[in-house]
Amino acid sequence: KNQPLSDLEIASQAVMKPIIDIAKAAGIPEDALEQYGRYKAKIDPLKITAHGEDAKVVLVTAISPTPAGEGKSTVTVGLADALHQLKKNVVVALREPSLGPVMGVKGGATGGGYAQVVPMEDINLHFTGDLHAITTANNALSAFIDNHIHQGNALNIDPRRIIWKRVMDMNDRALRKVVIGLGGPVQGMPREDGFDITVASEIMAVFCLATSIDDLRERLASIVIGYTFDREPVFVRDLQVQGALTLLLKDAFKPNLVQTLEGTPAIIHGGPFANIAHGCNSIMATQTARKLADIVVTEAGFGSDLGAEKFMNIKARKAGFKPSAVVIVATIRALKMHGGVAKTALVGENVPALLQGIENLAKHVETIRTFGVEPIIALNRFITDTEAELEAVLNWCQENHVRIARTNVWEEGGKGGLALAEQVLSVLDEENNFSPLYDVTESIEEKVRTIVQKVYGGKDVQFTDQAKKQMAQIEKFGWDTLPICMAKTQYSLSDQPSLLGRPEGFTVTIREVIPKLGAGFLVCLTGDIMTMPGLPKQPAALRMDVDSEGHAVGLF
Ligand code: ADP
Repeated sequence: KNQPLSDLEIASQAVMKPIIDIAKAAGIPEDALEQYGRYKAKIDPLKITAHGEDAKVVLVTAISPTPAGEGKSTVTVGLADALHQLKKNVVVALREPSLGPVMGVKGGATGGGYAQVVPMEDINLHFTGDLHAITTANNALSAFIDNHIHQGNALNIDPRRIIWKRVMDMNDRALRKVVIGLGGPVQGMPREDGFDITVASEIMAVFCLATSIDDLRERLASIVIGYTFDREPVFVRDLQVQGALTLLLKDAFKPNLVQTLEGTPAIIHGGPFANIAHGCNSIMATQTARKLADIVVTEAGFGSDLGAEKFMNIKARKAGFKPSAVVIVATIRALKMHGGVAKTALVGENVPALLQGIENLAKHVETIRTFGVEPIIALNRFITDTEAELEAVLNWCQENHVRIARTNVWEEGGKGGLALAEQVLSVLDEENNFSPLYDVTESIEEKVRTIVQKVYGGKDVQFTDQAKKQMAQIEKFGWDTLPICMAKTQYSLSDQPSLLGRPEGFTVTIREVIPKLGAGFLVCLTGDIMTMPGLPKQPAALRMDVDSEGHAVGLF
């Protein structure tokens, strides 16, 4: 049998429309479009007027991911293409890829098979430079801090208590902890520093949650960079560099327009990870898409315990909209892994393991219902799925009164998502009782406990001594009335990556609580989660190259 084409091969065979045509069809006026070549453009949100009522939002989430792959972006793109085929006015809103996973193991973020956004290689590499701008703004702030200390430290910043870190958009474990300023007085004040990956940075979060340029500046000004020798917080506004940082971000802040393989408009903007950050594309992108379309299909990262939880409790709360429908992507392969099957043993029918692993899906369904929304499962078909396995999932859904649609968008594009699109359309007009799960005025401990018990299905939460100290300080400064951004492994509903399926009776440990006042949330670190990932032994980079005509090779 012929080897199926790779994502890159399919994408590079695509005949793209000029981006001006995509913009015109989406109702974007010409003066709002800033072209980056023939197939990419930035949209000036100030020049977009609403076409009517703001679009309804369809959120795509997933079961707990396994190395088998769920295809969340693939289904998100395929669903948008299916709605487009049904003549709906739809825009898909996605996150920008990070080069860490592109070079590492997980791959790009442009979907797969015949459900992709293009130009795939541009989007997965440097795109329109937003990640560069965010990295630069972040590191400019680091430079301003170190220069301030070097020039006499008028703010009395304690170099040992700086919480602002440098960033780069690559998995680089060697930079997690560094010492800077060595070499004598001319080289600055020596101190410990460290690097996070750009997509975990507060600048990325600020960028994604800001609702206007003025809001962006205000949020940047509110970032806490560290503490003085008297243990008082030091803000970006104390350094008076919020204007410069806003300037570095001003063009990046405009959402990017591209297209799917079927010519559906796609807005791709902002890309925080969902395990160590809040995992949703920018509010600017979603709101711009809502002005243009009747339906916006968007995705939040990893399983519903991470991206969707933060979409509901952080992004939707901030932006003031609600999801009108939620799709949970599941695959038979992944469910079998949750039922105890090893990745190497996935080929071959195994209904008992599937039925055991389905408890992971059951929990994600319950979670979405807890938010007041009735989910639809998208069963993303792989060619290895057997009829008996498909039957088993459909029967389970019928017995448990869960809506489900089989999707085949990877093989067929939008056509393979028509059944899902029909189901989504049928719920869009139903009222739902969406509400975030906690009130921001509750104590930090209560908010975290709610997430652990209602979303993760755990027994309780405990805090390390360090976390307790940090919480006391956060309360002292009156910062405790912010939503929580959990940093947790994506593989398990618990904080232990090896506990697949539906673990029960576990207690989640909060190691640290870090204030992110610019983003407007408190990050709670659990387990061994790292804000700077490492590369695997055989990174995807080993397969990559460029052919003599200058085209990418081996980019998935
Ligand atoms: P996620 O968003 O969940 O991380 P992606 O949509 O990025 O997943 O898909 C991950 C990889 O899996 C992509 O390379 C994609 O081509 C592949 N993939 C997705 N769905 C299927 C499918 N039904 N059959 C085969 N491969 C698939």
